[in-house]
Amino acid sequence: MDFASVELSPEDAEFRDELRAFLADIVTDEVRRRDRETGENFDEGVHLALGAKGYLASDWHDESDGGFSALRRRIWDLEIGRAHTPWFHWGTTAVVAKMMRDFGPSELTDEVLPGVLSGETRLCLGYTEPEGGSDVATCKTRAVRDGDGWIINGSKMFTSNAHNARYVFLLTNTDPDAPKHKNLTMFLVPLDTPGVDIQPIRTIDGDRTNIVFYSDVRVDDRYRIGAVNGGWGVLRGALDEEHGTAEKEDDGLQRVAVMSEHLTLMAEAIDAIAELVTRPGADGRRLVDDTSVAYRLGRSVARTEAALSTPGMFGRVANAQTMRDVAPDLMDLLGSASALPIDTTGAADDGGAEYIFRLASPVGIYGGTLEVFRNMIAQHALRLGRPAYSPPKS
Ligand SMILES: Cc1cc2nc3c(=O)[nH]c(=O)nc-3n(C[C@H](O)[C@H](O)[C@H](O)COP(=O)(O)OP(=O)(O)OC[C@H]3O[C@@H](n4cnc5c(N)ncnc54)[C@H](O)[C@@H]3O)c2cc1C
Repeated sequence: MDFASVELSPEDAEFRDELRAFLADIVTDEVRRRDRETGENFDEGVHLALGAKGYLASDWHDESDGGFSALRRRIWDLEIGRAHTPWFHWGTTAVVAKMMRDFGPSELTDEVLPGVLSGETRLCLGYTEPEGGSDVATCKTRAVRDGDGWIINGSKMFTSNAHNARYVFLLTNTDPDAPKHKNLTMFLVPLDTPGVDIQPIRTIDGDRTNIVFYSDVRVDDRYRIGAVNGGWGVLRGALDEEHGTAEKEDDGLQRVAVMSEHLTLMAEAIDAIAELVTRPGADGRRLVDDTSVAYRLGRSVARTEAALSTPGMFGRVANAQTMRDVAPDLMDLLGSASALPIDTTGAADDGGAEYIFRLASPVGIYGGTLEVFRNMIAQHALRLGRPAYSPPKS
């Protein structure tokens, strides 16, 4: 890894300043407050403004295709995170649009892509089912041929942002008798099709996601992405992208690991707590003069820095595990008032650590659980072989 600092050219510095000012203008306190209340991680006004300014198109296209240079992409990622932009669903939209470009019929891509880049069309992921998400290939949602179309029946758990999206990238089973991985087909299903029912779910950190039911949903064959029973090949690319295991450039400018933006929130909470514990109380004493407070605060900073610098799938695990370990330590330093959430009178640090504590659980689940990532590290990085799940032979 290259730890050299990057000198910005005047043009790149101007790009950063312009982007920062633009985000300050559109990501207002009101936008952030609404996002906290709804848990949507999405704001249509912000999304459309980023599309209209051309930022979505620049992020989506490769540099060779007129998109951001590697350096500008890095600036873009950092500034979006620092502004607390409610924006996580751009990632899913962008990934699905890339799968369409690579595997879908070109007429469908031509129809959908302009709306994606302008911000008007959002795309969501329909993989996980109520009976399990880690092993997505066990998919039970059925798609059955019906003339020049398909009839879909089943249900999908945790289809985040479905209520703000126009299409779902849906994993279906098109041949229950075929071997696993050889019976899957992907579709881009318009979410306003009769028979689609989107029901809300709130998670422990206040996020809004959905369960979506599909009852005799008819889609034309032109919405199929990739070959019939060839869905696993399409899905693999999308999963690698989501897991952060896709091939990266070696220029040191890539996002270090997926979900590192959550650690930025934790770093901000730590900064706020460092300020609180160094402030003298009514008796003139400072909490940080207690060596155990100083030690635990220092350990939190060190672990956060280490996680922020850990790349790829190792970083994915380090980020979520560090949040899970450090957040309760931070709350402990401040006492029971740290359990009060943001905007509550008397909250020790305005709910900063409390929010990280609640966020840490889902961060270790979505996009693949920590256990599954640890298995991937064991199998692919440490070459320990495939885990054996069968009971030991007696
Ligand atoms: C907030 C949120 C948003 C999400 N958004 C989406 C979305 O937009 N679209 C979508 O399709 N999905 C989404 N998901 C689903 C997410 O990808 C799954 O929750 C995740 O893959 C785990 O699946 P599961 O919850 O069904 O748990 P399960 O797969 O049932 O796992 C249960 C437990 O068993 C463990 N486990 C399972 N398999 C293994 C294994 N092989 N080795 C060791 N341990 C194992 C898991 O770690 C976990 O602790 C979202 C989830 C959350 C919480």
